[in-house]
Amino acid sequence: MKIGVLTSGGDAPGMNAAVRAVVRVALDRGAKTFAIYEGFQGIVDGGDRIQPLGWNDVGGILQKGGTVIGSARCHAFRERNGRLQAARNLVQHGIEGLIIIGGDGSLTGAQALQNEWPGLLAELAETGQITGEMAERYQSLKIVGLVGSIDNDMYGTDMTIGADTALHRIVDAVDAISSTAASHQRSFVVEVMGRRCGYLALMGALATGADWVLIPESPPNLDDWEGKMCAVLAEGRRVGRRDSIVIVAEGAQDRHGNPITSQYVKQVLEERLNEDTRVTVLGHVQRGGSPSAFDRNVSTQMGSAAVDAMLSGEAQMEPVVIGIQRNKITRASLSYCLQKTWGVAEAIKAQDYEQAMALRGRSFRDSFRIVRTLVRALPHKPEPGQRRLRIGVIHGGSPAPGMNTAVRAAVRLGADKGHIMLGVYNGFRGLIKGDIREVDWMKVGGWAPRGGAELGTNRTVPSGSDFYAIARNLEQHNIEGLLVIGGWTGYQSALELYGRRENFPAFNIPMVCLPASINNNLPGAELSVGADTALNSIIQAVDKIKQSAVASRRTFVVEVMGHFCGYLALMGALATGAERVYLHEEGVTLDDLVKDVRRLREGFGRGKRVGLVIRNEKANPIYSTSFMHALFEEEGGDLFDVRQAILGHLQQGGDPSPFDRILATRLAARCVDFLETQIGSDEPMSACIGQLDGQLEFTNLEDVPRMLDVEHARPKRQWWLDLRPIARVLAQPGPNGGD
Ligand code: ADP
Repeated sequence: MKIGVLTSGGDAPGMNAAVRAVVRVALDRGAKTFAIYEGFQGIVDGGDRIQPLGWNDVGGILQKGGTVIGSARCHAFRERNGRLQAARNLVQHGIEGLIIIGGDGSLTGAQALQNEWPGLLAELAETGQITGEMAERYQSLKIVGLVGSIDNDMYGTDMTIGADTALHRIVDAVDAISSTAASHQRSFVVEVMGRRCGYLALMGALATGADWVLIPESPPNLDDWEGKMCAVLAEGRRVGRRDSIVIVAEGAQDRHGNPITSQYVKQVLEERLNEDTRVTVLGHVQRGGSPSAFDRNVSTQMGSAAVDAMLSGEAQMEPVVIGIQRNKITRASLSYCLQKTWGVAEAIKAQDYEQAMALRGRSFRDSFRIVRTLVRALPHKPEPGQRRLRIGVIHGGSPAPGMNTAVRAAVRLGADKGHIMLGVYNGFRGLIKGDIREVDWMKVGGWAPRGGAELGTNRTVPSGSDFYAIARNLEQHNIEGLLVIGGWTGYQSALELYGRRENFPAFNIPMVCLPASINNNLPGAELSVGADTALNSIIQAVDKIKQSAVASRRTFVVEVMGHFCGYLALMGALATGAERVYLHEEGVTLDDLVKDVRRLREGFGRGKRVGLVIRNEKANPIYSTSFMHALFEEEGGDLFDVRQAILGHLQQGGDPSPFDRILATRLAARCVDFLETQIGSDEPMSACIGQLDGQLEFTNLEDVPRMLDVEHARPKRQWWLDLRPIARVLAQPGPNGGD
């Protein structure tokens, strides 16, 4: 089968990863791919704008922003006549299926082409532009869409290609602006993209701790919204906030449909608050740059799924769109998803904001609600006579970026419900010593973007007489519920207390564990806070390492963290185009190494320039990173040399990625709700939280040991191992070595 692939509409980081996956997976399945350059313009023009793509043609593009096969807006394709020419060119090239990576506009165009296809072919045959035989042979056109759009504005996928990278750009910019704004006590209005979708603005505000946000789907519900916004910002100043940041979506509007521009917001702040206010319109910065780890890996999976849908006949009857929903790749009817997408735009236009928010889905609505609480200058005052719960917050395990974000969200959301939030400093060591202090609303100001762990964390697991000390401290501080934000040793510590609740009544309180570990090895959670940041640190380092080898023939052995869990290694390999990954889950044998040496020698013998293998730190105790280095160096002979890079602690550091900040905030919100319902119940439950099969769920702490391979401290079932076949296909050496 011959498949055409094109990128259309606004470019988005991650499109290249999708094209690479489409080409390589198609070749692996025995199909052939043609690049259609410059989007729909390329099909309309035909000729040399449609060209076969080979394995090596898509080498070295994974880390590139934009789209290497070009994109364009094409007026001709909006007309039937343009689509007629497109049909002729496709048939003449023998292309039976199209994989289209673009926004809802492009996918609408694709749907139109498919709807008209029989009529177009009949006309081409009648006018002698194609033979009757050809019209018969190509009577159906299969279409699979991938949503490439930084706005995240399409129904049918939780994330569109490019949205995560755009959030990285926004978060980096707002973090930078916050520091200069705080220095001068200035206000900043930051305008982000999103004409009909407030996703980037909302999540940008959630991730950066901005002070106000304006989105198209849910305009401020007061006529004098300006007064409300200014009152909150002024109150924030009064209680000590040094900066005010307002994030405005490009398409923000008031309840009557009048646009709210960033300039207008600036004018309001200057006039009403008398504040020195600056506007930053982020513009095309949001579109550009190297794709994030998430965009590379999700686009790769989507590209692979698109080929499967194409070849399985799924797209035979009607166009399908590939999405990711709840961490799983999905296929849905394109026309259905387009209708729902237009539904949001229509609802906004008709000023039916309830409907617009309903169509955006639950996680969007929850996030909006959370942001509205977090932006408050101060929490709501407790109701008279309300019982104020005393909730402890503690870390356990190694530092994970996003720990501070989770603490901030828990403290603010808890305080807003009237509760007293107590920080336990220095993990379980601090709980043993009694290092416990109230943490209030303002204390956690500025914690959302901060890496590290302000409360302190370590890997102490209590034992022996520690339990008496802990029981005494819990009682002394009258702690009624405990939120443990951390990694496996944090979970272990919670389990130790839980197991002793018969002997120590103070332990008979609800505890909830929030997964925060770069290793992503926690039971009951498909993704833990910190893993995405670590993965992004890995790919940035590996991209640089690969670039360093321009003038030499070299193989790199890169060692990544993860303890016994290969998540970072496998996902890092998928996102950097490594040709081999060593995981403890699979083990490493001498036989493997011999084969790998042979493959490397063959590749470099055919002209390959850079080799990359990624090794989990505990993949095998004997075949260590330095062992592999020495082995490959010796066997590489004159063909290639070898360098090793042990990435080390840069993986635990850095400010949390947008994804980790969002995850940390959402999990913390649910944990506070959980503790609130459990405290005071006759048989309080203790649990860990996590996304499981796509839902945020609580797993009873009692079940945790059963879900775990305790010796290796990793879940028995690890969903991401299912991605190994794709990683293997993409890593095969191309005919000329490839990358
Ligand atoms: P995006 O795909 O990013 O939403 P556009 O809305 O600009 O970007 O659409 C990209 C291209 O898709 C357009 O230039 C045009 O060629 C095609 N297209 C968009 N809408 C339609 C339509 N209703 N019918 C046919 N083609 C369309």
